[in-house]
Amino acid sequence: MKLPSQHNKMAGNCEACVLKALKSRTKKLSLDNNALKTLSVSVGRLGFLETLSAKNNDLLSLPEEIANLRQLGYLNLGGNKLQSIPTCVCGLPKLRTLHLFRNCLTSFPNQLPSTLILLNLNHNNLTTISPSITQLTSLKQLSLANNALTQLPPEIGTLHSLEELHLNGNNLFTLPYELGKLRNLKKLMLQKNSIKALPISIGECRKLSTLDVSGNQLEIFPAELQLLSFREFHFENNPLLPYIPVPADQYQEVIPLKEVASRAIVTEIRKDSALLSAMVSYYPGVQDQLDKAGDCAVCGQPFVSLWLDCVHFELSKKVFQKLHTSSQGYLPMKAQLCSYKCFNSEGHKLFGIAEPPIF
Ligand SMILES: [Zn+2]
Repeated sequence: MKLPSQHNKMAGNCEACVLKALKSRTKKLSLDNNALKTLSVSVGRLGFLETLSAKNNDLLSLPEEIANLRQLGYLNLGGNKLQSIPTCVCGLPKLRTLHLFRNCLTSFPNQLPSTLILLNLNHNNLTTISPSITQLTSLKQLSLANNALTQLPPEIGTLHSLEELHLNGNNLFTLPYELGKLRNLKKLMLQKNSIKALPISIGECRKLSTLDVSGNQLEIFPAELQLLSFREFHFENNPLLPYIPVPADQYQEVIPLKEVASRAIVTEIRKDSALLSAMVSYYPGVQDQLDKAGDCAVCGQPFVSLWLDCVHFELSKKVFQKLHTSSQGYLPMKAQLCSYKCFNSEGHKLFGIAEPPIF
């Protein structure tokens, strides 16, 4: 059942439409494009309704009676003037899809139905995401594009069902390490932010096949990105390190004894040294440090708190062979070395990271 889309059809017609729906017991009701400022409280009598769309009106609030729509699975309130999410929506037991795009929301709701599969909050004024997002355990698609977010809470990592995350057009400059816990994530849209680095944990999102990081502040990509099989990867409009080998002062450094000892301990623990493992377990802080040990990209030996950041340049199509669409060009990929000895050795294509000379 559809209300005619003319702006002069106002509340009276809404009432009439609801009564018609009540009579016909329709499961779908559309009140779109009618300049409505309120919804009739009679809507609450449509307990059999499964789909309600009231997008592109002037709604400032919803009647509490919405809470009676116990069968409602789809609710579209996009293109209205809501400043907060009405509490009556939070208690809808079967709600799976909630559209609230193009409203005036300034804060993320503290309570939402845990049944939600899709939540669309694009084009609002959100500056933060509440940690209460952990309630959304069934969520597969979260759209937060074109808001004013500056950071994501670590709690985002608890959304284990999430497959699509849209964050384009915000003010993000960093991403939490916990992003790597989104093991079902397939699509991540980050274009037009101010992100300076991708977390190395992104390599844990093994199902990620679409990534858009165009229009950010990235200079280099983490080596872990190569663990993924992208079908789409966009990275244009970033200040990427240029493929210009620059001369660097390379000297044979003396590695401090503490670092030498740390490397030796990591090597022995990896060989299952029961003695060293038992010793280290007495010092939780030390265990944490050793757990973060990296591996030299040349010799494969571990390093703990001292390493050399390097870069190698690879063609995107060569790194990600399943790519269907991609930005063109070389990707600067990060690599870490244990020493200048490895840096000066033959047989690798690694460069030091330094500002290129200005000609
Ligand atoms: Zn090495």
